[in-house]
Amino acid sequence: MLVYHLPGTFETREAHLDLLWEAGATGLEERAGLIRAYFDAREELSAEIADGEWRDEADQDWQAHFKATLKPVRAGRITIVPPWLRHEVEAGQTALIIEPGMAFGTGHHATTRMAVEALSALELSGKRVLDVGTGSGVLAIAAALLGADHATGLDIDPLTIPIATENAEINGVPPGRVAFAEGSLGLGDESDETFDVLVANLYAELHDLLAGEYAAALIPGAPLILTGILTGKLDLVQTALDREGFGGVTVRGDGEWVLVTATAPAQ
Ligand code: SAM
Repeated sequence: MLVYHLPGTFETREAHLDLLWEAGATGLEERAGLIRAYFDAREELSAEIADGEWRDEADQDWQAHFKATLKPVRAGRITIVPPWLRHEVEAGQTALIIEPGMAFGTGHHATTRMAVEALSALELSGKRVLDVGTGSGVLAIAAALLGADHATGLDIDPLTIPIATENAEINGVPPGRVAFAEGSLGLGDESDETFDVLVANLYAELHDLLAGEYAAALIPGAPLILTGILTGKLDLVQTALDREGFGGVTVRGDGEWVLVTATAPAQ
């Protein structure tokens, strides 16, 4: 079996997936930041996707292999696990079950894990949480499991909504405590509802564009958690937060990724 291995980032992945399809890939798979593209024959690839590696791999059940190599991910008070590993969650930890599938957010990416850790560090009882770019719903579900009164997950990709809804059901979060909808901030059709916490795992340029919307969607002084930010793009996010009057900015990193927290402007 001929497999092309292409490392990437959030920012490049969609363009790379498109280019690999266009180049004739017969199947695509993503694992831990690596795209695996299956081909019947070696193809001439365009410059944007040329720095990968062709490998001839023995045929095997890759899905089974992938499942076998998944490990539980501990993030603060939460341990994120696929359904078949729920028995591995240690006593005292809250299990968050995510079926690895089409939507981003199995917990295996550093940004998801840091975001769950940041939520876990907050007192969420009685709070209303907004998760922008919900993907698998992992952050909204984490917020509900951590005691939030209600979590709303928004995503521009309609495919994520049934996946996130199913993940909430698997975790026993009742529909009254979590809601997922296709949408975003900054589209001009938002309600004027405000939230006690906002979490967004997107990317630096989008955080820059949405910083004013984040301020408008939060009650004064409320916590904001942003990730999906490459270390080299941190300045863009910090400048945007300063511009919109956010205070108390903290930054933590994991490899090439950073997570930023801040508090919403007083007014
Ligand atoms: N929240 C999950 C997590 O932390 O693992 C998924 C994060 S994934 C990196 C980013 C998600 O944001 C994708 O599902 C994508 O469809 C969505 N997205 C991209 N641009 C967006 C936008 N402008 N508004 C809302 N969602 C967006």
